Amino acid sequence: MNQKVLYEEMCPQEFLEKIKKCPVAYLPLGTLEWHGPHLPLGADGIQSQELFIRVAEKIGGIVLPKLFLGPDRYFHNPNQELYGMDIYTGGTIIPYEMQQLPGSAYWMPDEQYQELIRRIAANLTRAGFKILVGHGHGPSIWQFEKMKTELKEKYDLICVTAFDFLQDEVFGYQYDHAAANETWITQNVRPDLVQMERILSGKEIPVGMAGKDPRKFGDENYGREIVEKNVEAMSKGLKEILTRCFQKYTEE
Ligand SMILES: [Zn+2]
Repeated sequence: MNQKVLYEEMCPQEFLEKIKKCPVAYLPLGTLEWHGPHLPLGADGIQSQELFIRVAEKIGGIVLPKLFLGPDRYFHNPNQELYGMDIYTGGTIIPYEMQQLPGSAYWMPDEQYQELIRRIAANLTRAGFKILVGHGHGPSIWQFEKMKTELKEKYDLICVTAFDFLQDEVFGYQYDHAAANETWITQNVRPDLVQMERILSGKEIPVGMAGKDPRKFGDENYGREIVEKNVEAMSKGLKEILTRCFQKYTEE
């Protein structure tokens, strides 16, 4: 299907028709973050936006531009800021020293991030949306999940993530960091951006990857299955919420 689903590409009339049919906004909670030597720095937003595009093409709704700032664990010494995968905390495929990983440029404090999400929600409600789907970078999802009740009460926005429709260690969407899950998802949605040879050659050390080793676990079929299962689950779940809401609206 080749219909327009990206917010920034729509003219006002197209936007109005879309939102009337399906008042769902999809927000890719991205980062610009080291995802191993083999994945693009924008992997978080790329994966979630590609999932959203597929769901929007299937059931409707409008996909927002990717955010690239997000929260994460943080360590500050007099000379530099370290955050996220810079700080070795265990669970990674290869142990490594704390270090500034190349390319990462995304960190912001939790409170500022919550304020950003509030402003986005206020603007989306004003534009006419009823449901906000957020997904992407782990710590961004956790903050977003914590704000669900507040966003419903303050802005009348029903907020959900991909985890509300499919929670599974193997087939959940973006369930690890740059390891088998994220690697094979990215390989499925944007194969042109993945450089597997960088971790297969043994020349580059795959630091900052947490989860199952993508060189030993998963393949192209695994990536395809994750994407298909999540498109299916999210489409079904959102349709159920929409039906419930529309019934509520007609009753009122
Ligand atoms: Zn990620």
